[in-house]
Amino acid sequence: MSPFRFSESALDPAVLSSALADDSCGGFAAFEGWVRNHNEGHAVTRLEYEAFTELAEKEGARIVAEAQARFGVTRAACAHRVGSLAIGDVAVWVGASAAHRDEAFRACRYIIDEVKHRVPIWKKEHYVNGDSGWVNCERCAAQAHDRHAHHDHSPAAPAPDYSRQTALREVGIEGQARLRAASVLVVGAGGLGVPVLQYLAGAGVGRLGVVDADRLEPSNLHRQTWYSLADCGREKAALAAARVNGLNPEVRVDAHAVRFEHANAEALSKGYDLIVDCSDNFTTKFLLNDLALRARRPVLFASVYQYEGQLQFVRGDDASACLRCVWPDATRDGLVGNCAEAGVLGPVPGVFGSLQALEALKFLLGLPGLANEVLIFDLITLSTQRLRARRAPDCAAHRATGSPPMPVDAGADEIPFATLADALAAGFTLIDVRDARERLAEPMPAPSLHLPVQKLLSEAAALDADAHYLLVCATGRRSTAASGLLRSQGLRGCRSLRGGLKGLKTSA
Ligand SMILES: [Zn+2]
Repeated sequence: MSPFRFSESALDPAVLSSALADDSCGGFAAFEGWVRNHNEGHAVTRLEYEAFTELAEKEGARIVAEAQARFGVTRAACAHRVGSLAIGDVAVWVGASAAHRDEAFRACRYIIDEVKHRVPIWKKEHYVNGDSGWVNCERCAAQAHDRHAHHDHSPAAPAPDYSRQTALREVGIEGQARLRAASVLVVGAGGLGVPVLQYLAGAGVGRLGVVDADRLEPSNLHRQTWYSLADCGREKAALAAARVNGLNPEVRVDAHAVRFEHANAEALSKGYDLIVDCSDNFTTKFLLNDLALRARRPVLFASVYQYEGQLQFVRGDDASACLRCVWPDATRDGLVGNCAEAGVLGPVPGVFGSLQALEALKFLLGLPGLANEVLIFDLITLSTQRLRARRAPDCAAHRATGSPPMPVDAGADEIPFATLADALAAGFTLIDVRDARERLAEPMPAPSLHLPVQKLLSEAAALDADAHYLLVCATGRRSTAASGLLRSQGLRGCRSLRGGLKGLKTSA
């Protein structure tokens, strides 16, 4: 007999018990769950059980095996009815035989409790008044009753339960209190913002702010799976706030359906312990970066590009690197395309949003996290890189806050060449940082390495620190940004071709 099985026909306890008979056992305990004629004050006339059989049998067998291992019982089994049951029928039967009675009792108790909570079985109760309702566990049964009693569709929700995280030594009751006292502003309620808001609300962060000026569109849903198709056309900030409320009514949430701009940045972010950047454009990111330094408020950044993304935590102090230390020029929204332009698989921003939520919780709990580094995660190869983000000596954002100047790194980022042959003659190795499509459309007119911007960042470690590289793109914008980053990684010989391929003298 399989340890857990469903039966369409009546269960016979005598037959079930005899299958567990064992001469080495001195104790046998069995539990029978009967169909009773009432539930939560309602007269019940009959019941129906339905199960997601394949899944249920696996989970049921696992529970029986757990009970055997945990209590050392010799034999154990559970049988559950499905289909239509009458009052007085045996709905579920559990039996355990063991060397002693105590193990048998405890195993029996364990199996029935776990089956109630873990096995996907739905119960449809038929009431005297002709109504019926599906319920799937004891807790849901209470809700179904409540709904019934009040003749509306707002069940009395249970209270949030943080036991699965307070069980961690790093969290505990004290950590939970810290989370409850904390406040986080989430800028962007899209692909990154959804997982951030979900996990922070679930964790019981006391106050959340949501800033998003957009309305939900059907094309958002493959990555913003918190929303529904019927929500399209509505403001995302309000939708997200409603979802937060539904997930955890203990969390206070403020929704702002506005664009995060210079004019409102200060007011919107006031009073928050942490800002999480879930925007998809560099203008907002740099605005947040400068705010981080000005207001000394930490900002957790994430950017996603196709199958790759990166994470950086800007703490906002003098000593640690900021976004402009790594990306010195703010005028390059085109450097990393957004999802609309470049395309993205839904889980990609999901992964990075989840990482942001994790880093945010670690920060609020005082656990070690990202510091002065850029985490790059390539989701095609599943490889991660942690690049040191150095505080740039000539960073404009740091300078603007009156930070003490750092030693200046000599050498301009950009070098003009009339032809690529001139650059080669000057001792540069060329690196084409354009993507494959651009290369096909306009091949490089000279021998070069091909490392598209995103690859370049993750493969910086493979480049020769002493070599002279000239980075080339179409206009010089991406290559300048990339060379600045590489130089901050210690590749002092990196430069960018001013004006890119467009700026070259054509031989024709
Ligand atoms: Zn900086």
